[in-house]
Amino acid sequence: MGDQCVILVTGGTGLVGQAIKTIAEGEENRPNEQWYFASSKDGDLSVREDTEKLFAKVKPTHVIHLAAMVGGLFRNLKYNLDFYRINTLINDNVLNVSYKTGVKKVVSCLSTCIFPDKTTYPIDETMVHNGPPHDSNFGYSYSKRMIDVLNRAYNKQHGCQFTSVVPTNVYGAHDNFNLEDGHVLPGLIHKIYTAKKNNTPFTVWGTGSPRRQFIYSLDLARLMIWVLREYPEIDPIILSVGEEDEVSIKEAAEAVVEAMDFKGEVKYDTTKSDGQFKKTASNAKLRKYRPDFKFTPFKQAVKESCDWFVANYETARK
Ligand code: NAP
Ligand code: GDP
Repeated sequence: MGDQCVILVTGGTGLVGQAIKTIAEGEENRPNEQWYFASSKDGDLSVREDTEKLFAKVKPTHVIHLAAMVGGLFRNLKYNLDFYRINTLINDNVLNVSYKTGVKKVVSCLSTCIFPDKTTYPIDETMVHNGPPHDSNFGYSYSKRMIDVLNRAYNKQHGCQFTSVVPTNVYGAHDNFNLEDGHVLPGLIHKIYTAKKNNTPFTVWGTGSPRRQFIYSLDLARLMIWVLREYPEIDPIILSVGEEDEVSIKEAAEAVVEAMDFKGEVKYDTTKSDGQFKKTASNAKLRKYRPDFKFTPFKQAVKESCDWFVANYETARK
């Protein structure tokens, strides 16, 4: 990426997109890179004409493709069909228009929740298609898996440099803090904020025993910019903290309690689903390429995320 380039980030207004903006315009700023962060207001990418118009306007040489219908466990449980259809349309449009307009490289986003439910641990990049995903989010999962199929097919048939990353659970500034739709950490932050304000108990959903590897959005942004500039493969790469950094939902809730200085009662609503018990991923491939990459410590990143929510409460997505 030595020449002048224009990088289109689809889904540029979301959690991951805004983190990439912070890093690309800050510590990783390069004069030859011009970035465009698109929102759904720039066009609905599930519609072919909108996708073509956006590409004709921005004329990207490179694309980071984040735009998707996204949600936590409870949104996935309700809308498997929509997750499948909308994301499949978006991905087909973005990759096909990228091919037709000669985009040099596309980096798309998979997720560790799309891996087979019945599997051995740790999960690695070779296992994406090895068995059915967890039933709670099969629509999202099959649609995301097809990005890997498209990437390989575009490469084999047309020589395209289309690849993908596989992040674990992401959190940070600009997250979706809506309780029904969002992921666990923003949900916990929002619930503690309300419990503190109203002097009411804070309720964690499920048993608290499932385990997750959380990645801070700014760390993911640093790694995705590296993937765009340097990663040479078509096959996906897992972007995750180490297996030893996996925490239970209970431990994650305790980290938020501490960061928000919450002194009230903590309850567990075990009538709510636990979802997938774990999806422990290996970051050995990442470590082979980036042995020295330093992840932000979990407690520090949770504190920064809480502080962002408190400071931006009025305008945050909730
Ligand atoms: P997010 O905060 O919900 O942002 C989604 C982005 O996609 C927004 O910019 C949204 O635009 C855009 N978008 C949605 N539907 C669109 C459409 N039909 N046309 C055009 N744009 C559309 O999501 P995120 O958490 O940043 O996720 C980014 C990517 O990372 C996704 O591909 C997701 O699957 C993947 N991922 C996320 C996680 C996680 O824990 N969050 C984990 C693994 C992988 P508006 O702002 O205009 O609505
Ligand atoms: P997942 O990692 O794809 O399953 O999605 P989530 O980020 O939604 O995490 C779901 C896990 O967190 C399940 O074990 C839930 O029972 C648990 N959890 C606890 N409280 C909450 C909450 O307020 N919101 C969400 N989304 N999950 C919660």
